[in-house]
Amino acid sequence: MSHVLILNSNMYAIQVAPWERALTLLYLDRAQVVDEEYRTYDFRDWIDLSREMERHPAGFIHTPYFKLAIPEVIALRFFDRVPQQAVPFTRRNIYHHYGYRCCYCSRRFPTAELNLDHVVPRSRGGLTDWTNIVTSCIPCNLRKGDRLPKEAGMKLAIPLSLPRRRSGLALMARCPVPMRRSWQRFVDNVYWDSALEEN
Ligand SMILES: [Zn+2]
Repeated sequence: MSHVLILNSNMYAIQVAPWERALTLLYLDRAQVVDEEYRTYDFRDWIDLSREMERHPAGFIHTPYFKLAIPEVIALRFFDRVPQQAVPFTRRNIYHHYGYRCCYCSRRFPTAELNLDHVVPRSRGGLTDWTNIVTSCIPCNLRKGDRLPKEAGMKLAIPLSLPRRRSGLALMARCPVPMRRSWQRFVDNVYWDSALEEN
């Protein structure tokens, strides 16, 4: 089973998907095949080109009417965003992001002894997202209570920070399918299809 790297319309790698999905996007003209020279081909062009190929790294599918090389990389025609919520805002990811430390006293704790703390309390309109949540040990959490750190005479030893986008290469290390050579040049920013990640 072959997988295809999907780029956005600016040639940023955004996802890896099964080839059937890639061919559907191509057929519906929502995507174009991209070769290593960044040339693009729509479905018709790709059929013509496939006819002339003797070999293709990802192989072919054969229909009664034509043979089609399975693309290795496709680019979406109408999607230019880079998905922003790359690191889901989950308890586990927050602990991991702050290295299982309390951001006020900077000591490490087992997860059972860590809390999530709203730096700006919820009662003052503090948001529950990466911009306002830190990890905190229970004593620090109790000490701070429903106040701003300053009001509690505390400050963040570990400053608030947004999780960095995971690099393409780091993600490739976790990719459940082998990376194809042809993907290499595109994988600065890769976000796995979450369905794929769970398999
Ligand atoms: Zn603490």
